[in-house]
Amino acid sequence: MPKGVYQRQHTSAESRFWPKVEKGGAGDCWEWTANKTPFGYGKIFGPDEMGRRRGLKAHRVSWNIHHGPIPLGRIVMHTCDNPGCVNPAHLRLGSYRDNNLDKAIKGRGTATQSPGNVRLVRLAHGLGASCYTISQALGVHKSAVYAMIVGKTYSYIKDHHNER
Ligand SMILES: [Zn+2]
Repeated sequence: MPKGVYQRQHTSAESRFWPKVEKGGAGDCWEWTANKTPFGYGKIFGPDEMGRRRGLKAHRVSWNIHHGPIPLGRIVMHTCDNPGCVNPAHLRLGSYRDNNLDKAIKGRGTATQSPGNVRLVRLAHGLGASCYTISQALGVHKSAVYAMIVGKTYSYIKDHHNER
């Protein structure tokens, strides 16, 4: 881990970090027990990269403690899909693009398909195309296609006529 100013800064966050974690086994989710954001991410106050005291996301602090500074423009993603988890084994670095793809694959994306695509998916399905065929054409997981068709995702997109 790189030495220097940065490491000293995050140590102060680290001392307050562990008492708030319900640490399980190596493969378990380590649940954040203190404050969380509306999206379920753990929240901790500490100095950021610029040394300013502000609310930080606990899983990002966890990454920092275990792996060092997060490269600029990268985000820390959960492989376990549990936003309140801070187990470093469940975290990986990604980009915003990865994150959107990941959400689309897992069928909970809300911002990756255009309304036109969603209509097309539903139309194709109405004409008899299978979820699998559509998913191959679109490059997304078939569970995401299914979610679109049944309106589990993109329920705000209606057909052409009543959306104006
Ligand atoms: Zn986890």
